[in-house]
Amino acid sequence: MQLPFLSFESTNKEIKKEILQSFESFFDREWYVLGEDTTHFEKQYAEFNKVKNVIGVSNGLDALHLALKLLNIGPGHEVIVPSNTFIATVLAISYVGATPVFVEPRITTYNLDPNKIEQAITSKTRAIMPVHLYGQACEMEQIMHIAEKYNLFVVEDNAQAQGACYKGKLTGSWGNVNGTSFYPGKNLGAYGDAGAITTNDAEIAKKAAILRNYGSGRKYHNDVIGYNMRLDECQAGFLNVKLKFLPKWTKQRQEIASWYNEALKNIGDLILPIIAEEASHVYHLYVIRTEKRNELQQYLNERGIGTLIHYPVPPHLQEAYINLAFKKGDFPIAEEIANTCLSLPIWPGLKKNDIDRIAAIIKLFYNE
Ligand SMILES: *Cc1c(COP(=O)(O)O)cnc(C)c1O
Repeated sequence: MQLPFLSFESTNKEIKKEILQSFESFFDREWYVLGEDTTHFEKQYAEFNKVKNVIGVSNGLDALHLALKLLNIGPGHEVIVPSNTFIATVLAISYVGATPVFVEPRITTYNLDPNKIEQAITSKTRAIMPVHLYGQACEMEQIMHIAEKYNLFVVEDNAQAQGACYKGKLTGSWGNVNGTSFYPGKNLGAYGDAGAITTNDAEIAKKAAILRNYGSGRKYHNDVIGYNMRLDECQAGFLNVKLKFLPKWTKQRQEIASWYNEALKNIGDLILPIIAEEASHVYHLYVIRTEKRNELQQYLNERGIGTLIHYPVPPHLQEAYINLAFKKGDFPIAEEIANTCLSLPIWPGLKKNDIDRIAAIIKLFYNE
């Protein structure tokens, strides 16, 4: 039997009727851009994320780009970003013309190491972008403290951690302006591209709503040079349906992770996820590490188990960032994670015997 890395079969079945109803209602309303479903979703997601304002946008990358733009970050500025993030966080910095400054994560949690931030701050630094990687909340209290001390903005990349907390406070509600993604595979995923900005700043929220819509607050009157970065109305309708299920699906992810933790303990050189004190994890990904990563991935693949690597090449070694002139060895922790990490299947609908079967194959791999 095959076990794909990701399957929507179970969650799709749960919501199919409501999704089709939402589409029919959207279709019949004949109002296809920025309509009542978008407004409703922004309200519902604000309630879920415990923030004052949500502005739906086209995708997660656009959300991060817009967030930096809203804070007037641009050429000549530096933005601190983890050295092991997904490329989109770095691209957003490039889009506004600022320079990414990489700071290493903790090798335990894979999240930005607060102890390494201060030494990266210069007179050009404007913002810190913590990424709640794999679904675990960063140590936000420490990060906010440093930002206050140096008068920096904080822009959270909350694409992977909807519903995670640090000291009981939700990710996406700490920073000045934060971005999240509703890419289909994310914990709250649409059926296409979608994203949002979350902020407690009403002025910024107002500007964001204008900037995502050609820079126009009033139809055909343009205050600034804006973008078309609107959240698709049809996707907003789907997200309204799925948001109601998110807490339940998050619990399922956490339960699957606990099955893995139990079934995979004390096997070979495997390193299992570690959660920082006072942080919670919503397991967008369940990531293990081993020196034999490539061999283990192939072994699992040959036995029908889908896995992925998040991510095989850290941003500083990407061809796209050759101009930053980094080389192998410059960010050894990010490189170590890239060389040893492996993401196992985790999606609502996986059963305990699926996890036990995966664990049995992994044990076999180490015993051969
Ligand atoms: C998915 C993701 C993004 C980008 O979101 P898109 O909606 O795909 O543009 C940004 N940052 C992180 C950490 C992500 O996982």
